[in-house]
Amino acid sequence: MIRNCFLCENQTELLYDANWVLPGLAPTNIGFSICPHCGSVCQSPTVTFDDMMRFYSSMAVYTNPGRKEKPSEAKIRDLDEQIQFIKRGIGNLPSSALQIGSSDGYTLSRFKSAGIDRVLGVEPGKASVALAKKLYNVECINDTAENFKTTEAFELIILTHVLEHLYEPQQTLNKCRKIQDSLAEGFIYVEVPLLAPPKSLFPGFFAFEHINYYTRENLLKSLLNSDYYPISVIEHYRSNLSPIIGVLASTKPQYHTDDFVNQYSKNRNRVQAYRRQEVEYWQQRLDVILPQLQQAKRVYLWGAGIHTSQLVANTNLLEKVIITGLTDTSELKWGLKQGNWHCVPPDAVEWQQGDAVLISSYASEKEIFDALQWLRDKQVNTLRLHNVDDTKAH
Ligand SMILES: [Zn+2]
Repeated sequence: MIRNCFLCENQTELLYDANWVLPGLAPTNIGFSICPHCGSVCQSPTVTFDDMMRFYSSMAVYTNPGRKEKPSEAKIRDLDEQIQFIKRGIGNLPSSALQIGSSDGYTLSRFKSAGIDRVLGVEPGKASVALAKKLYNVECINDTAENFKTTEAFELIILTHVLEHLYEPQQTLNKCRKIQDSLAEGFIYVEVPLLAPPKSLFPGFFAFEHINYYTRENLLKSLLNSDYYPISVIEHYRSNLSPIIGVLASTKPQYHTDDFVNQYSKNRNRVQAYRRQEVEYWQQRLDVILPQLQQAKRVYLWGAGIHTSQLVANTNLLEKVIITGLTDTSELKWGLKQGNWHCVPPDAVEWQQGDAVLISSYASEKEIFDALQWLRDKQVNTLRLHNVDDTKAH
């Protein structure tokens, strides 16, 4: 599926593409494209909305949020800051808040504790809606950003890490603006991954689930296009795995930021430099462990997901090594086909001395490695592709 620019709807130009093998989907040509009129970068070609939803249903992280139902330390810290940032930007805490993409309800529970009387979530995952009620007594509408309806007005609307997933993000911003039409002044807080300079981005920044890419310039522009007027901006480059940007905006006309200028050449150079850096990086990492893979009796890939598709798309692994199979601890992945392999549970494999397992996840590499002592006890070689210890929580 080819997409037009998510911001100005013009036709986009392809920057690069590759064949991606994704769990549960047929191998697909996935690319990243740029809009010549505004410079916004988006995923195109991409899969259809229905295929994307099918992919989400195989991802544990979206259907069973929370680590043992508790927020991570990074999440707690991020919320401490978000609440203060919004309070400072507005001058006081608003009286009601609507969060679109409310996940397990933790964010809204924090806003409630901070003093906001009325909170409501919108969340497509059924399990998350139930969890929000159970853990925090937070009420949520079980629906998507695209489909939900409400007749209630909310002084604050929160969209953290939502816009980058939406096929038509401007429609959702327009819908938010309508919800606040009757108010003297309403506010919106949006937070998204930031398309920062290439050296600031981790391997895998251009993710399958992220179909829109934001810079400070096009994020401010996207808010202004929906009649929201930015009043506070915050950027972090190393606090989370990905650089992030947060913007607080008001429905009251005011002009604090520069006029938008086309970001085409700047963003095109950024994406192309990142792409060169990324391909070189994956191959270099593979080359380090290639001799051990080639000596192994059999090689299994650990984890059906994006990292496996990136490993296959960005390296010559399949030309150099015969891959016996694919395994994952998540029940949601079992039986799914990714590339040539059907994902099986780890205990369905009869592990033998001399086998090797290749871990290619970046964000969870250490966690996975630490959990595989039982395989090392069986003389299975557990190999880490990235070999980094400093990966941060999302
Ligand atoms: Zn555009």
